[in-house]
Amino acid sequence: MHDDALAAARTEAPSHHWHTLSGDEVRDLLQTGPYGLSEAAARSRLARYGPNRLAPPKRRGALLRLLAQFHNILLYVMMAAALITALLGHWVDTGVLLAAVVINAIIGFIQEGRAEAALDAIRGMLSPHAMVIRDGHRREIDAADLVPGDLVALASGDRVPADLRLVSVRELRVEEAALTGESLPVEKDTVAVAADAPLGDRGGMAYSGTLVVHGQATGIVVATGSATELGRIDEMLSGIRSLATPLIRQIDRFGRVLALAITGMAAATFIIGTLWRGHAPAEMFMMVVALAASAIPEGLPAIMTVTLALGVQRMARRNAIIRHLPAVETLGSVTVICSDKTGTLTRNEMTVQRIACAGHVFDVGGIGYAPVGDIGIDGRVVDTARYPALALAIRAGVLCNDARLRREDGVWRVEGDPTEGALLVLGEKAGFTRDAGKSAWPRVDTIPFESEHRFMATHHRDADGEPWIFVKGAPERILDICASQLGHDGERALDADAWRRAATHLAAQGLRLLTLACRRAAPADGALGLADVEHGYMLLAIVGIIDPPREEAIEAVADCHRAGIRVKMITGDHAETARAIGAQLAIGAGRPALTGAEVALMDDAELRRVAMEVDVFARASPEHKLRLVQALQDDGQVVAMTGDGVNDAPALKCADVGVAMGLKGTEAAKEAADMVLADDNFATIATAVREGRAVYDNLKKFILFMLPTNGGEALVVIAAILFELTLPLTPAQVLWINMVTSSTLGLALAFEPAERNIMARRPRPPGQPLLTGFFVWRVAMVSVLMMSGALGLFLWELDRGTGIEAARTMAVNAVVAAEMFYLLNSRSIFAPVANRAGLTGNRAALLAIAACIPLQLAFTHTATMQQIFGSADLSPLEWLKVFCAGLLVFVVAELEKFALRRSGLAARVAGG
Ligand code: ADP
Ligand code: MG
Repeated sequence: MHDDALAAARTEAPSHHWHTLSGDEVRDLLQTGPYGLSEAAARSRLARYGPNRLAPPKRRGALLRLLAQFHNILLYVMMAAALITALLGHWVDTGVLLAAVVINAIIGFIQEGRAEAALDAIRGMLSPHAMVIRDGHRREIDAADLVPGDLVALASGDRVPADLRLVSVRELRVEEAALTGESLPVEKDTVAVAADAPLGDRGGMAYSGTLVVHGQATGIVVATGSATELGRIDEMLSGIRSLATPLIRQIDRFGRVLALAITGMAAATFIIGTLWRGHAPAEMFMMVVALAASAIPEGLPAIMTVTLALGVQRMARRNAIIRHLPAVETLGSVTVICSDKTGTLTRNEMTVQRIACAGHVFDVGGIGYAPVGDIGIDGRVVDTARYPALALAIRAGVLCNDARLRREDGVWRVEGDPTEGALLVLGEKAGFTRDAGKSAWPRVDTIPFESEHRFMATHHRDADGEPWIFVKGAPERILDICASQLGHDGERALDADAWRRAATHLAAQGLRLLTLACRRAAPADGALGLADVEHGYMLLAIVGIIDPPREEAIEAVADCHRAGIRVKMITGDHAETARAIGAQLAIGAGRPALTGAEVALMDDAELRRVAMEVDVFARASPEHKLRLVQALQDDGQVVAMTGDGVNDAPALKCADVGVAMGLKGTEAAKEAADMVLADDNFATIATAVREGRAVYDNLKKFILFMLPTNGGEALVVIAAILFELTLPLTPAQVLWINMVTSSTLGLALAFEPAERNIMARRPRPPGQPLLTGFFVWRVAMVSVLMMSGALGLFLWELDRGTGIEAARTMAVNAVVAAEMFYLLNSRSIFAPVANRAGLTGNRAALLAIAACIPLQLAFTHTATMQQIFGSADLSPLEWLKVFCAGLLVFVVAELEKFALRRSGLAARVAGG
């Protein structure tokens, strides 16, 4: 009956009518009580209406994706060639070509699927949350679990999780661009409007997918999932959009230019071969096709994408969730990390340690959230009741507070802001619990804490019904609005200088400061507004809260310094607190801190000058973050910036790598960020930088492997044609090499772990092109090396009178052996690999090599393969020669690295 009534109500009021009803009517229709739904009702509605989720965007089907793989210049060339060979009646070559085309497409298909699966898993990790009120309790749940009728609380920075009819609002402004295209935020209220009001004018509604940029509200869910307005326009928001990054696009372009150049070269070879050297056109045509097939690095983009995706997956396992793929590359060249302090560099487990009142400084014992510890003066325990300022300050701290202290399985936990949790623990230590306090001093109204204002205020009534306003906030902010102070001799005029000294003194010990004050008055116009916290307050106390640095952050900062990365701390805290904590982390030690106020006085040029000098920015607001990012970027730095609030979004977007907090960050910050820290931990940024460098390394290593292996094959053929030699590789054999080796062997480099000294290098210069002079040299050198091994062996064998089949088979095996050995060389660009770690450190490489061996044995010794490819059996001695040709490549490649290292060129080329 319950559900039936609900269903009836919903049919009576189709979704486009909710805005015409009052909040109370909606409440009645959806049977939402004053304390929200019950858990049981929510459960049954969830079963009925399904999860609050939009259907995922339609994917191309598997068949379509497979077909898309054929859309590739090289494959077109090969298919055209297959057609021509078929017309010429070269059926074996036609078959090999077609097999090569199909295998290439299948490999591309599998690799793309792998990359997408890796990214899909990560998309799921960023599921949005919603603050719901059920059975009178606020709880954070997965937005997918919301049901119609749920009472939802919104705060600035939230993505609205479902369509809501607002029932109470406080200065709520919502940006509805996702729905209406209008990017200016609109003011919300709770008023019902006419049925035909357009979406943008429905002030009493907050629609799913829009963004709260200011204020708070509560609302009742009226539609979820695909029933929402957003679901109706069927648009997916956020998430990782494409697999392409600047680097991949650069490589893609490079690959296409290369393909054209190679096609041109092949045409030239054809002309030279037929007209000048007098080869048969049909044979030359086949050769040229094989040449093109071997030289064009068709696997390049696919394997690059896999490398990136694997890197993204590794980062996610270590709590760094990449939202924007290019960030993986950018991370490797970051030169400055600007980090929040509280909770990122510090533990965010706060304990009040000191309370300065007029005339007395109290020490508080105990650490953590367990409410055990005494309050004393100079080691002597005191009775709080005998110090009225202290007692009122503790009461203010407990009342002007949105956190909750709970004991769970013997462990004390804080829900909400840890700074406020510390005050609740203090209250418990002194014998004040809020619940006792609440009944005596009910809260009437609130101005919640926002980093911009740096204070929070609440309006209460005491046991006699008298009004009180309590504020707590940063000392500078609160001192400004106080006229008096409470001491042991009652209310006196404010001695602002003495308080400032006390604040500086506490802050210098690394304590986070909160000042508590009160006023015995009601808000001027009933509701508590900013105008009510401008003057006339009585200062009670400054409390000093300890928030120690995270151990792992200290290490991570040291890692970053070694890696040539500057770490800057940006905090809303007091300058002295920031400096003291900074010193413990080795950030800005011995150097001055800059405050937001000072930053505000500087022009951009001035800020640019000092931005690199100063490492600690205190009392900073989001707009200072933005200016700082811009100043650092103007100075040529590559900047990673952290943030959590809605106002941090511009700075996160502007930074080269915007980093949002996964735990305490708002949806707005996460959506603006390139990377989300699942654990809010600074050390995770350092880990991500390390992985970013490793991914970039692997991309380079792969290119340095791929290009010479293709180049070597191509050179063998070109040299043979130019010098009028017997062709050492038949077209079919070239295709075989290409099919078997490049994709299998090269892929192993995507699994290459980070090099040991990767965080001892300087950041990669941004904008450094991938294909430097050094790359060209290395590619050319190894190409020639590969060619010499195979061609030399071939000619030598012919000279000794070996049959052409066996000689060719040796040439094929020599090329493949050289590639196997060179794969090991490629594990490191400069470091030696002729050692245990170098040879066995990458299991994927060993597996790939092991997989190629039986293929080559089959190629050489099975009758079928001999028939198709014209190969012949080899004797053990001949195999030994093949092995030596491969080994030669390995040795020379290692010698080149050695020479580079000895001459110091390696360090110069690496950019460090
Ligand atoms: P950060 O996150 O960088 O430490 P915040 O913006 O959280 O900076 O805090 C800045 C200052 O605002 C703090 O030093 C403190 O004085 C004050 N403050 C912090 N949290 C609260 C709160 N919940 N209520 C009132 N004041 C607060
Ligand atoms: Mg904070």
